[in-house]
Amino acid sequence: MALLKGKNVLITGASRGIGRAMAIRFAEQGANVGFTYLSSVEKGEALVKELEAFGVKAKGYRSDAADYEASEALIKDFTSDFSTLDALINNAGITRDTLLMRMSEAQWDEVLRVNLKSVFNLTKAATRVFLKQKFGSIINLTSVVGIKGNAGQANYAASKAGIIGFTKSVALELGSRNIRCNAIAPGFIETEMTAELDEKMTAEWKNAIPLKRAGKAEEVADCAIFLASDMSAYISGQVIQVDGAMLT
Ligand code: NAP
Repeated sequence: MALLKGKNVLITGASRGIGRAMAIRFAEQGANVGFTYLSSVEKGEALVKELEAFGVKAKGYRSDAADYEASEALIKDFTSDFSTLDALINNAGITRDTLLMRMSEAQWDEVLRVNLKSVFNLTKAATRVFLKQKFGSIINLTSVVGIKGNAGQANYAASKAGIIGFTKSVALELGSRNIRCNAIAPGFIETEMTAELDEKMTAEWKNAIPLKRAGKAEEVADCAIFLASDMSAYISGQVIQVDGAMLT
């Protein structure tokens, strides 16, 4: 059964990692997929063809999620290309890890802009569309680090905790308009983002995870399919951990 047949979804940051896995899994489930990328232009362009092979409509947009005006333009372009927007997945994110004493203002600002302000930018622009069409599902990528905190990631943890407060507020504010808003909190998922981490540290993390392994980007994507589909029609304002019980 195709869970997303005919639905139009927009995913930010899908040239790599979790966003890319979501784009492919969504297309497999029959969704038409619009997605963004910023620096990975070739990878972004190549993904369009991969998605079209599933017989769905696909389009990549080079767009900076941290830029307010670019986000407004993106939602306009998407709706003119796809007509409706069933689900918005705010996935784009970065890390600039360092201890607080060494953290520069630029490292703080950049992470907050790309991870948190982007969620505001796109959700605000998409809400106009959702209100008009009287439905919509917003899925925001937070992290277990936003719930628990993590030494060396004060900027990242603050941005991800901010996403949780934002998600719950939007769910409360827009629920009466049939607009749902949920967050996914992945634990340790193997992508380019985590490939940068120290090997000894990641081995210790994996050992501390009850399921004894890192997660796969596709396993996060499967949670997003559920939240974008009608199977989660009565679920809003939630943070779903996809972490192998890492934070339990
Ligand atoms: P990743 O492999 O580093 O990929 C990040 C994606 O975001 C890329 O496609 C990148 O596109 C895009 N991006 C970055 N800045 C952008 C911007 N300003 N505008 C538009 N796109 C931008 O990361 P990932 O591991 O897949 O993580 C995806 C999301 O899951 C992030 O929000 C991350 O915080 C969250 N998460 C990941 C983990 C994990 O273990 N991996 C755990 C918890 C949460 P370009 O390359 O084209 O710039």
